[in-house]
Amino acid sequence: MNKTYKQDIHYKVEVSNPSGHLFKVELTIRNPAPDGQIVSLPAWIPGSYMIRDFAKNIISLKAFSKSAELPYQKLDKQSWQFAPTSSPIRIEYEVYAWDLSVRSAHLDTIHGYFNGTSLFLAVKGQTDQPCSVELIKPKQKYAINWHVATTLRSHNPKPYSFGKYSATNYDDLIDHPVEMSDFTLIEFSACNIPHAMALTGHFECDLERLKHDLIKICEYEIKLFGDAPFQQYLFQVMVVGNGYGGLEHRSSTSLLCSRNDLPKPGIEEVTDEYRQFLSLCSHEYFHSWNIKRIKPAQFIPYDLSIESYTPLLWAFEGITSYYDELILVRCGVISIESYLEMLGQNITRVLMGTGRDKQTVYESSFDAWIRFYKQDENAPNAIVSYYTKGAMVALALDMILHQVSNKTLDDIMRSLWLHHGKPLIGVTPDGIEQLISKEAGVDLSEFFHKSLRTTEELELTELFAQMGISYHLRAANNNGDKGGKPSKVPPPPYTGFRYLKQETGSVSIQIVLEDSPAQLAGLSAGDQLIAINEIQVTAITIERQLKELTADKKAIFHCFRRDELMRFELTPAPPVENICYLEVTNPNSKLLKRWLN
Ligand code: ZN
Repeated sequence: MNKTYKQDIHYKVEVSNPSGHLFKVELTIRNPAPDGQIVSLPAWIPGSYMIRDFAKNIISLKAFSKSAELPYQKLDKQSWQFAPTSSPIRIEYEVYAWDLSVRSAHLDTIHGYFNGTSLFLAVKGQTDQPCSVELIKPKQKYAINWHVATTLRSHNPKPYSFGKYSATNYDDLIDHPVEMSDFTLIEFSACNIPHAMALTGHFECDLERLKHDLIKICEYEIKLFGDAPFQQYLFQVMVVGNGYGGLEHRSSTSLLCSRNDLPKPGIEEVTDEYRQFLSLCSHEYFHSWNIKRIKPAQFIPYDLSIESYTPLLWAFEGITSYYDELILVRCGVISIESYLEMLGQNITRVLMGTGRDKQTVYESSFDAWIRFYKQDENAPNAIVSYYTKGAMVALALDMILHQVSNKTLDDIMRSLWLHHGKPLIGVTPDGIEQLISKEAGVDLSEFFHKSLRTTEELELTELFAQMGISYHLRAANNNGDKGGKPSKVPPPPYTGFRYLKQETGSVSIQIVLEDSPAQLAGLSAGDQLIAINEIQVTAITIERQLKELTADKKAIFHCFRRDELMRFELTPAPPVENICYLEVTNPNSKLLKRWLN
């Protein structure tokens, strides 16, 4: 046990009511500000660019000094100021934790999970000070087999124990989420660094296979950058029936996945779902360098009280999205064909929206707070994703570098790690562009201007051809056509809407693309489609009914909008080719081998 464990700022976390989803937190401040200590909770969590107002979940806050209750006043939605006192303050509060996401906190008798941004009030004026945390194990039967998975510094004799933890400052404190449950543990070493994956939930998984694949991915990424920015690493995974998400931290990541995403025992094939799960692991792990250390200058330090704008998410999310799948093929977890299928699907996602003609990736990054994170039914017409378009820019950039320079994007990432990540020097808005042009020894300013600050299409066909790959476009086969593969089926004519099949068997319009036949006809997102050419539409019949339409021949659509019956005349257009797939044309291409290893 460490005598120096308990700090002047100390948090005690208990499960007070798992059925009511309440954590109880006790914060002791030994040396409060003499003029009235202020405490506050962040409005957002790094990595998820939306104001979430975590303080809304703080319930029944009370403070005490010398065992007498200490009055306070609210300063704003997330800050409290206590009456002046020269004695230590103890603040007690409960936090409602019922958000099953990687961004906040979730508690029941199955598990307790929290991010520090949801539970730990920041002590104003002392956020640079070390702090300690005590995690209390619930005494009830449900928690009998619970352990703790977190990368907070442990002061306990046994790993994965409840008890004593600490952090070097507030920024550190809130960057190690905590999972407490009867989790399944995979432990492994990657480049001699201890790694673990803690999986909570009901699932069947070939743990050996998963471990084997994770080692390949982690070792590849450590070698890509040269060294690791952590001394241990933890993947926290919550497995549910249907879920997807990930959030990066400095030495861990929280993931949410579906049980179908995990590799079943006795099956060797890499399913699309498992491939997606591995790319999620690879993505969040890559962030340990790219965003957790190599950061926009605006994020050093983070201001978690208000929005923090940067035009650079195209690089931090886009480059990371480019590498998450590239690494899978490079370390042999998936085949080249499988990689090109994923790449074709990503390009398809960008091509399917008309928002790419309206918003640049630079703008998309900057406005993430109100656009990407607050998408509605019009999003495909209004915005472009800095993830998918950003990954396309990274792909185009890497292919250009392979073709005109002796440096590649790998060298650029190493250089960013060396010059920005390790010394923690923030990246200015044009910092990455300048560094790339300098490192590569070629002027790429025109490429960057076009691809980042205009909506002009990226010219991929010729770049792929040089690598020994042919780039193809075809029309969508059906509503769920994700692309990535060729098709021999004749496509239906273009209507320009996407639909959702409801569990009841009905069909509702999900998205209407701008200037499409559907929009010209007057159809709208939310309309319930009930008949085409006076024949009933159901979830089973819709695909066939759309295939039977003829281009340039008027069709009658009947919908309910709210509870009102409406009739539309829709004239489909000839199929539109916006589905991408890629094929290797020259398997012996030196550039192809160098690119995909
Ligand atoms: Zn990311």
